[in-house]
Amino acid sequence: MKIKSAEFEISAVRPVQWPSDGLVEFAFVGRSNVGKSSLLNKLLGRKSLARVSQKPGKTQQINFFRINDRFRFADLPGYGYAAVSKSERAKFAKMLETYLTTREPLLRVFQLVDIRHSPMPMDVETYRWMKSIGLEVSVIATKSDKVGRSQIAKAVREIRIAMDGPEFIIPVSSEKGEGILELWSHIEDLMGA
Ligand code: GDP
Repeated sequence: MKIKSAEFEISAVRPVQWPSDGLVEFAFVGRSNVGKSSLLNKLLGRKSLARVSQKPGKTQQINFFRINDRFRFADLPGYGYAAVSKSERAKFAKMLETYLTTREPLLRVFQLVDIRHSPMPMDVETYRWMKSIGLEVSVIATKSDKVGRSQIAKAVREIRIAMDGPEFIIPVSSEKGEGILELWSHIEDLMGA
Protein backbone atom coordinates (compact mmCIF):
# COMPACT_ATOMS: atom_id res chain seq x y z
CA MET A 1 0.00 0.00 0.00
CA LYS A 2 1.19 3.46 -0.77
CA ILE A 3 1.17 5.63 2.32
CA LYS A 4 0.13 9.07 1.16
CA SER A 5 -0.48 10.38 4.61
CA ALA A 6 -0.05 9.10 8.12
CA GLU A 7 -0.87 11.39 10.96
CA PHE A 8 -0.74 10.87 14.65
CA GLU A 9 -4.10 12.18 15.86
CA ILE A 10 -4.51 11.77 19.58
CA SER A 11 -3.39 9.89 22.67
CA ALA A 12 -6.53 9.16 24.57
CA VAL A 13 -7.90 7.23 27.48
CA ARG A 14 -11.55 8.21 27.65
CA PRO A 15 -13.91 7.01 24.94
CA VAL A 16 -15.23 10.55 24.36
CA GLN A 17 -11.75 11.47 23.12
CA TRP A 18 -11.59 8.68 20.56
CA PRO A 19 -11.98 9.73 16.92
CA SER A 20 -15.60 9.37 15.96
CA ASP A 21 -15.82 9.80 12.19
CA GLY A 22 -16.30 6.08 11.65
CA LEU A 23 -13.18 5.33 9.54
CA VAL A 24 -12.41 1.62 9.79
CA GLU A 25 -9.86 0.79 12.41
CA PHE A 26 -7.19 -1.82 13.06
CA ALA A 27 -6.00 -2.26 16.64
CA PHE A 28 -2.55 -3.44 17.66
CA VAL A 29 -2.16 -5.24 20.98
CA GLY A 30 0.63 -7.20 22.62
CA ARG A 31 2.96 -7.52 25.57
CA SER A 32 5.26 -4.64 26.36
CA ASN A 33 8.46 -4.88 24.37
CA VAL A 34 7.02 -7.22 21.75
CA GLY A 35 7.99 -4.70 19.04
CA LYS A 36 4.70 -2.88 18.52
CA SER A 37 6.05 0.64 18.08
CA SER A 38 8.79 -0.60 15.77
CA LEU A 39 6.20 -2.38 13.64
CA LEU A 40 3.93 0.66 13.42
CA ASN A 41 6.84 2.85 12.40
CA LYS A 42 7.91 0.31 9.81
CA LEU A 43 4.39 -0.07 8.40
CA LEU A 44 4.00 3.66 8.10
CA GLY A 45 7.53 4.27 6.85
CA ARG A 46 8.20 6.76 9.61
CA LYS A 47 11.16 6.61 11.94
CA SER A 48 9.43 7.58 15.10
CA LEU A 49 5.75 8.21 14.58
CA ALA A 50 5.01 5.59 17.21
CA ARG A 51 7.72 6.12 19.77
CA VAL A 52 9.96 3.10 20.27
CA SER A 53 9.59 2.82 23.96
CA GLN A 54 12.55 3.28 26.21
CA LYS A 55 10.48 2.35 29.21
CA PRO A 56 8.21 -0.57 28.51
CA GLY A 57 4.68 -0.21 29.80
CA LYS A 58 4.95 3.56 30.11
CA THR A 59 2.44 4.37 27.44
CA GLN A 60 -0.91 3.77 29.05
CA GLN A 61 -3.02 5.48 26.47
CA ILE A 62 -4.46 4.56 23.13
CA ASN A 63 -2.69 6.26 20.24
CA PHE A 64 -4.70 6.83 17.09
CA PHE A 65 -3.14 7.22 13.64
CA ARG A 66 -5.07 8.27 10.56
CA ILE A 67 -3.77 6.79 7.31
CA ASN A 68 -4.54 8.00 3.78
CA ASP A 69 -7.75 9.46 5.22
CA ARG A 70 -9.10 5.98 4.70
CA PHE A 71 -8.48 3.95 7.83
CA ARG A 72 -6.95 4.14 11.26
CA PHE A 73 -4.49 2.28 13.43
CA ALA A 74 -5.11 2.20 17.15
CA ASP A 75 -1.99 1.45 19.16
CA LEU A 76 -3.19 -0.06 22.43
CA PRO A 77 -0.93 0.02 25.49
CA GLY A 78 1.31 -3.01 25.95
CA TYR A 79 0.11 -5.47 28.57
CA GLY A 80 2.00 -7.60 31.06
CA TYR A 81 4.63 -5.17 32.21
CA ALA A 82 5.60 -6.41 35.68
CA ALA A 83 6.78 -3.11 37.15
CA VAL A 84 3.38 -1.38 37.18
CA SER A 85 1.22 -1.46 40.28
CA LYS A 86 -1.87 -3.60 40.65
CA SER A 87 -4.19 -0.63 40.41
CA GLU A 88 -2.42 0.61 37.28
CA ARG A 89 -2.84 -2.81 35.77
CA ALA A 90 -6.53 -2.92 36.64
CA LYS A 91 -7.05 0.51 35.11
CA PHE A 92 -5.27 -0.58 32.00
CA ALA A 93 -7.25 -3.83 31.70
CA LYS A 94 -10.46 -1.84 32.01
CA MET A 95 -9.43 0.53 29.23
CA LEU A 96 -8.50 -2.34 26.94
CA GLU A 97 -11.79 -4.05 27.71
CA THR A 98 -13.82 -0.90 27.10
CA TYR A 99 -12.08 -0.30 23.81
CA LEU A 100 -12.35 -3.86 22.55
CA THR A 101 -15.95 -4.37 23.59
CA THR A 102 -17.34 -1.06 22.36
CA ARG A 103 -15.28 0.26 19.48
CA GLU A 104 -17.63 0.12 16.52
CA PRO A 105 -15.27 0.83 13.57
CA LEU A 106 -12.86 -1.87 14.76
CA LEU A 107 -12.37 -4.22 11.81
CA ARG A 108 -9.61 -6.47 13.08
CA VAL A 109 -7.26 -6.84 16.00
CA PHE A 110 -3.61 -7.55 15.34
CA GLN A 111 -2.16 -9.34 18.32
CA LEU A 112 1.62 -9.34 18.42
CA VAL A 113 3.64 -12.20 19.88
CA ASP A 114 7.40 -12.64 19.89
CA ILE A 115 8.35 -15.36 17.42
CA ARG A 116 11.17 -16.56 19.65
CA HIS A 117 9.00 -17.74 22.52
CA SER A 118 5.86 -19.77 22.96
CA PRO A 119 2.98 -17.40 23.62
CA MET A 120 2.75 -16.57 27.31
CA PRO A 121 -0.40 -17.42 29.31
CA MET A 122 -1.39 -13.78 29.13
CA ASP A 123 -1.16 -13.80 25.32
CA VAL A 124 -3.27 -16.93 25.13
CA GLU A 125 -5.85 -15.62 27.61
CA THR A 126 -6.11 -12.30 25.79
CA TYR A 127 -6.51 -14.07 22.46
CA ARG A 128 -9.22 -16.42 23.78
CA TRP A 129 -11.08 -13.62 25.45
CA MET A 130 -11.07 -11.50 22.29
CA LYS A 131 -12.37 -14.45 20.25
CA SER A 132 -15.01 -15.20 22.88
CA ILE A 133 -16.48 -11.71 22.50
CA GLY A 134 -16.62 -12.15 18.75
CA LEU A 135 -13.59 -10.15 17.63
CA GLU A 136 -11.60 -11.10 14.56
CA VAL A 137 -7.94 -11.48 15.47
CA SER A 138 -4.86 -11.98 13.31
CA VAL A 139 -1.60 -12.85 15.03
CA ILE A 140 1.64 -11.15 14.09
CA ALA A 141 4.82 -12.97 15.06
CA THR A 142 7.43 -10.25 15.57
CA LYS A 143 11.24 -10.17 15.33
CA SER A 144 11.41 -12.92 12.72
CA ASP A 145 15.02 -11.92 12.00
CA LYS A 146 15.92 -13.30 15.42
CA VAL A 147 15.25 -16.88 14.37
CA GLY A 148 16.74 -18.68 11.39
CA ARG A 149 14.67 -18.80 8.23
CA SER A 150 14.21 -22.54 8.66
CA GLN A 151 12.84 -22.01 12.17
CA ILE A 152 10.05 -19.64 11.14
CA ALA A 153 7.56 -22.29 9.99
CA LYS A 154 8.15 -24.29 13.14
CA ALA A 155 7.66 -21.25 15.36
CA VAL A 156 4.43 -20.40 13.52
CA ARG A 157 3.17 -23.96 14.06
CA GLU A 158 3.90 -23.69 17.77
CA ILE A 159 2.04 -20.41 18.02
CA ARG A 160 -0.88 -21.93 16.12
CA ILE A 161 -1.12 -24.82 18.57
CA ALA A 162 -0.69 -22.68 21.69
CA MET A 163 -3.35 -20.19 20.59
CA ASP A 164 -6.03 -22.60 19.34
CA GLY A 165 -5.45 -22.11 15.65
CA PRO A 166 -5.74 -18.48 14.58
CA GLU A 167 -6.44 -18.33 10.86
CA PHE A 168 -3.74 -15.77 10.17
CA ILE A 169 -0.27 -15.79 11.70
CA ILE A 170 2.07 -13.43 9.91
CA PRO A 171 5.79 -13.43 10.72
CA VAL A 172 7.36 -9.97 10.44
CA SER A 173 10.66 -8.25 11.08
CA SER A 174 10.62 -4.50 11.55
CA GLU A 175 14.38 -4.60 11.51
CA LYS A 176 14.74 -6.36 8.16
CA GLY A 177 11.39 -5.58 6.60
CA GLU A 178 10.37 -9.20 6.19
CA GLY A 179 6.62 -9.78 6.18
CA ILE A 180 5.73 -6.10 5.93
CA LEU A 181 4.32 -6.39 2.39
CA GLU A 182 2.40 -9.51 3.40
CA LEU A 183 0.90 -7.65 6.32
CA TRP A 184 -0.12 -4.75 4.07
CA SER A 185 -1.81 -7.10 1.61
CA HIS A 186 -3.64 -8.72 4.51
CA ILE A 187 -4.84 -5.26 5.58
CA GLU A 188 -5.94 -4.51 1.99
CA ASP A 189 -7.81 -7.82 1.84
CA LEU A 190 -9.58 -7.06 5.09
CA MET A 191 -10.73 -3.72 3.73
CA GLY A 192 -11.93 -5.42 0.57
CA ALA A 193 -9.67 -3.31 -1.64
P1 GDP B 1 6.94 -2.15 22.14
O1 GDP B 1 7.18 -1.97 23.61
O2 GDP B 1 6.08 -3.34 21.86
O3 GDP B 1 6.46 -0.92 21.44
O4 GDP B 1 8.34 -2.58 21.50
P2 GDP B 1 9.44 -1.70 20.72
O5 GDP B 1 9.02 -1.46 19.32
O6 GDP B 1 9.79 -0.55 21.58
O7 GDP B 1 10.63 -2.76 20.65
C1 GDP B 1 11.18 -3.38 21.79
C2 GDP B 1 12.61 -3.80 21.50
O8 GDP B 1 12.64 -4.80 20.50
C3 GDP B 1 13.48 -2.65 20.97
O9 GDP B 1 14.77 -2.80 21.53
C4 GDP B 1 13.50 -2.88 19.47
O10 GDP B 1 14.66 -2.38 18.86
C5 GDP B 1 13.43 -4.40 19.39
N1 GDP B 1 12.75 -4.84 18.14
C6 GDP B 1 11.54 -4.46 17.71
N2 GDP B 1 11.23 -5.05 16.53
C7 GDP B 1 12.31 -5.81 16.19
C8 GDP B 1 12.62 -6.67 15.06
O11 GDP B 1 11.85 -6.85 14.11
N3 GDP B 1 13.82 -7.30 15.10
C9 GDP B 1 14.70 -7.14 16.12
N4 GDP B 1 15.85 -7.83 16.05
N5 GDP B 1 14.46 -6.34 17.17
C10 GDP B 1 13.28 -5.68 17.22
